[in-house]
Amino acid sequence: MSNLLVNTRDQEFVLFEQLGIDKLFETEAFKDFTKDDLLMILKEAEKLAVNVIAPTFAEGDKEGCKFKDGKVSVPKCFHEAWKKYVEGGWLAAGESPEVGGQGLPRSIAFAVSELVGAANYSFQMYPGLTHGAAGLIHSYGTEEQKNKYMYKMYAGEWAGTMCLTEPGAGSDLNLVKTTAKRLPDGKFLITGTKCFISSGDHDLTPNIIHPVLARIEGDPPGTKGISIFIVPKIRVNDDGSLGEPNDVNTGGIEHKMGIKGSATATLNFGENGKCIGELLGGEREGMKIMFQMMNEARLGTGLQGLDSATASYEHAVQYAKERIQGNDIMAGKDPNAKPVAIINHPDIRRKLMWMKSHIEGMRSLCYFVAYCMDRSTVSKTEEEKANWEGFLDLLTTVVKAYCSDKGLLVCSTGMDVYGGYGYCQEYPMEQYMRDEKIATIYEGTNGIQSLTLVGRGLGQRKGMNAMNMFAEIQKNIKKMKEHKELGKHTAILEEASNACAELTMFFVQAGKAGNFLLPILNAYKFMEIFGDVLVGHFLIDGAGVAAEKLAAIYKAKGADTPEKQKALIKDDKEAAFYFGRVASAKFFAVEILTTVKARCEAVKMDDKTPLEMSEEAFAY
Ligand SMILES: Cc1cc2nc3c(=O)[nH]c(=O)nc-3n(C[C@H](O)[C@H](O)[C@H](O)COP(=O)(O)OP(=O)(O)OC[C@H]3O[C@@H](n4cnc5c(N)ncnc54)[C@H](O)[C@@H]3O)c2cc1C
Repeated sequence: MSNLLVNTRDQEFVLFEQLGIDKLFETEAFKDFTKDDLLMILKEAEKLAVNVIAPTFAEGDKEGCKFKDGKVSVPKCFHEAWKKYVEGGWLAAGESPEVGGQGLPRSIAFAVSELVGAANYSFQMYPGLTHGAAGLIHSYGTEEQKNKYMYKMYAGEWAGTMCLTEPGAGSDLNLVKTTAKRLPDGKFLITGTKCFISSGDHDLTPNIIHPVLARIEGDPPGTKGISIFIVPKIRVNDDGSLGEPNDVNTGGIEHKMGIKGSATATLNFGENGKCIGELLGGEREGMKIMFQMMNEARLGTGLQGLDSATASYEHAVQYAKERIQGNDIMAGKDPNAKPVAIINHPDIRRKLMWMKSHIEGMRSLCYFVAYCMDRSTVSKTEEEKANWEGFLDLLTTVVKAYCSDKGLLVCSTGMDVYGGYGYCQEYPMEQYMRDEKIATIYEGTNGIQSLTLVGRGLGQRKGMNAMNMFAEIQKNIKKMKEHKELGKHTAILEEASNACAELTMFFVQAGKAGNFLLPILNAYKFMEIFGDVLVGHFLIDGAGVAAEKLAAIYKAKGADTPEKQKALIKDDKEAAFYFGRVASAKFFAVEILTTVKARCEAVKMDDKTPLEMSEEAFAY
């Protein structure tokens, strides 16, 4: 029976049958875990998501956050959810026990995050940002800073944020104006305004720790002159107790389209000249340090796309099985034909396949990226480590942009499955869409992510990260090309992957020839093409595993004819699951991958119409 949020069988499939994360148990860092332990943890996370977090979804949206007398309150139901989440040790589950975590592999932490995010992403923002901010102090803080802030943040006693954006500095952080003035004791006076700060103020915890980008007086302009500071909402005394308020004032909160339970605040630092911050790491290293949190947040935002998509899909399938409308197409004009459930209509099946195949491919892609982090942690050689980290560096922007974009389209398709009811607040579909839309914008818009992928990602380590990824895809193609059932689809993947690899080289050549506008203008299209190829690769790879398992079930149950196999799939859940995984790969190859080569050719036409347009012609 579906939990209406996430297909946990598919989570297990990706983790253990596709990626084989059990290999991690052979390493010192994860030797104390077994597959059963991890499955039990995921079961607990599912219970938390279904019983504790999901009930806050609609209520939190309806109540929203409130701003009164300079203070922000979150939806009331979030308090109990936060308490249970924190008490369960979920906030730092992926951190080592020395800092209060459970030492879980990142791949499992991602699966937990998918469950909680699918239940209510607005809620997930609070622990997500707290974890990221604590992680900065973990990596770059002094022992004193860790003792003062980090442990309490990982324990969920205090919360955290990330403060980059200012009214005049959004995508372009060169323009950050917040300043830091040296004090005699080595601390700094912080002055400036940050806007759009998620979890910027709330009443879930008595203190909030803000990592703030600011420029020390006299430091150069641009991102090279930016440092990062730990700025608590309430000052912390030497004995760890809370002291005076730190002159961090909330100017207001945004009234938004979605994620209404997540407070998005404007914060004024040092309105009264009394906001004190501590330098984190070295001076002028702010961007380098903040990148750790930005990358974590980008992956989290990509996961948000998967979260919304999977919840939307699980609802859509159930609805399609229940909603009776229209006769079966095969009944023709039979006047006695009875209307059927809409899942019988070919166009609804196409929509559901589109949703399902994208979701499964994105899940494999997201968990693969998390698994890269695990593998880099346990790598035995520098080269091995660099290769795993290389995948992570290359794929972070793709996960962010591709999964948030496709996640939104999956939600939109889910709404279409519901028809008019999907557009109405009585059903959750419209909220999934509203909540998901922001994921294409924040943490760097998808346009900017695509430029980062093309401008930096593809060329990293002299192009080795990209070459390694294409080599992985080729390995899969070689393995699957002769496959009886999937060979044809693998050939489609091969054509698509080759076209994408050639386009990468075409970009390099265009850049060398001085035509750098070609990759810039087409960066978004490249990101989408690359994402499609990756998703197709992971789907074919997973389908190879699934087809083998399905064949074994058929054999064990004596299903040796197509009729018997069809009957078996109807009442054997495992057989149905594997059958569905194979179907996803076939569908995606034909529906999406067949278009890749033509899209690559279109990019190569070097059409510059958008650049040739006069501003006057854009709006008459
Ligand atoms: C709900 C919400 C929560 C947020 N949470 C946080 C948070 O916790 N912390 C934080 O620091 N910020 C946060 N933000 C800010 C968010 O990251 C920014 O809104 C985002 O990075 C875009 O900046 P901007 O809104 O100023 O848009 P702009 O930078 O003005 O961009 C407008 C458009 O121009 C495009 N554009 C800009 N520059 C270029 C370029 N060089 N080339 C091509 N296209 C370009 C953009 O892609 C975009 O389409 C949040 C925003 C929202 C709405």
